[in-house]
Amino acid sequence: MDEFLSACRALVGSNYLLRDQVDVLPYETEWRQRVRGKALAVILPATTAEVAAIVVLCGRFGVAIVPQGGNTGLVLGSIPDQSGSAIILSLKRMHAIRAIDSVNNTMIVEAGCLLEHVQQAAAAAGRLYPLALASQGNCTIGGNLATNAGGTAVLRYGNARELCLGLEVVNADGSIWHGLKALRKDNTGYDLRDLFIGAEGTLGIITAAVLKLYPQARSSSTVLLALATPSDALAMLNLARSTLGATLSGFELIADFCLTLVEKHFPSLHTPFAQRHPYYVLLEISDHQAQPQAGHAIEALLELALAQGLIADAVLASSIAQARNLWALRENISLAQGTEGKNIKHDISLPISEIPAFIEYMATCLEQHYPGCRTVCFGHMGDGNLHYNISAPEHVDKQDWLTQQAAINRLVHDQVDRMHGSISAEHGLGSLKREEIKRYKSDTELALMRAIKMALDPQNLMNPGKVL
Ligand code: FAD
Repeated sequence: MDEFLSACRALVGSNYLLRDQVDVLPYETEWRQRVRGKALAVILPATTAEVAAIVVLCGRFGVAIVPQGGNTGLVLGSIPDQSGSAIILSLKRMHAIRAIDSVNNTMIVEAGCLLEHVQQAAAAAGRLYPLALASQGNCTIGGNLATNAGGTAVLRYGNARELCLGLEVVNADGSIWHGLKALRKDNTGYDLRDLFIGAEGTLGIITAAVLKLYPQARSSSTVLLALATPSDALAMLNLARSTLGATLSGFELIADFCLTLVEKHFPSLHTPFAQRHPYYVLLEISDHQAQPQAGHAIEALLELALAQGLIADAVLASSIAQARNLWALRENISLAQGTEGKNIKHDISLPISEIPAFIEYMATCLEQHYPGCRTVCFGHMGDGNLHYNISAPEHVDKQDWLTQQAAINRLVHDQVDRMHGSISAEHGLGSLKREEIKRYKSDTELALMRAIKMALDPQNLMNPGKVL
């Protein structure tokens, strides 16, 4: 391996090939600090040509590659296994905004660009890049595309796949696919772009992308609704869709227990209601009309919802600061539940119409099997996506609780499957769900996926052990 490492060092410069324990630790450790992999080295190329040259060397020496962006992925996709034989290829240094075309409404960015910087560059050009995740200050566009990230604006703008028009990719043999076309229509055969998006680095390394831009909204309104049941939330979603149309940009369901945890661990944040309610919905509209129209639209919606008995109460943000505070309640749920202790997480999607039945069925089922267990149920209801996490009953040791993980996954995922849902809505499979997915995908689907992998990466050097 010395020859391989020397050749890589000569390519990127010795400052950008890391082997010291202290230097590699943050790259080898996943976001939640549950697992640490072991890398042969961390290599940080600065250009697409350098990425390609490293991939050629990896092919020659039979070294596996784990592409890494911000390392915020939640399914153990961005860290290597324990063997110490794979390199981590960090795209961090490739963070240029190559071009913005505000007439075509597109921008070309390098894969290592932080999502937040992409949003800021688009805003500086008077445009909106709508992908929005709580990890946006740390995750990269390359990682967003490799995981087909979702987030809070999918309802209106779609997920990362729908926000991308073209890609530049270094293939497993080191060749470069120059696919940076900024076209909305291009029916010229198989869609290669869509193969690499969501592939979690198992087919090639994304080095740059053409992203879609939108006009910036001129106004937005945020309201927190208090509701009795998920069925009311579903009826509310339908009402909001039919009255607000395309201006509805966020619809997040939050069970009361989630906000109890947020208030416990973030004492500066408070649920703005005099009394507690079983469920809440954070609803947002964004519009190209001025603020008064947005405000009128939401007030009209609230009147209708009250008249139909769908909501018990509502708090409409009257300033940007208040809207941020309402969003902070939602965005800090993950951190609050992490501080509370270990829990068993699920990132599932269902036909939206099935969500109330799923929540009702699972509540009974889990209470039967694990009396007193506490469910942290929240998510992007407008996209049919729930983060359905199960915390230990209060008297149970948090560490012991994790021994129930496989059994609880089986209960939750089997029900998701019965309702024709997905066991990974937006986080991907990584190595965490690689085995689990085999239970839910058909032999035909798995065989097609393996055939694609074999065709594009016959040496199995691109992020081996992930997805398949
Ligand atoms: P990494 O974690 O570095 O990598 C993720 C995967 O992509 C790995 O398999 C890696 O090998 C591959 N990869 C990375 N870069 C490349 C590349 N250039 N080419 C090929 N493959 C590559 N996700 C959501 O979808 N929605 C959310 O709302 C959301 N909220 C989150 C909130 C928090 C607080 C956190 C910590 C995470 C959240 N995530 C969410 C998960 C995560 O942020 C996303 O998956 C994100 O897209 C990962 O980007 P990254 O740059 O950190 O990628």
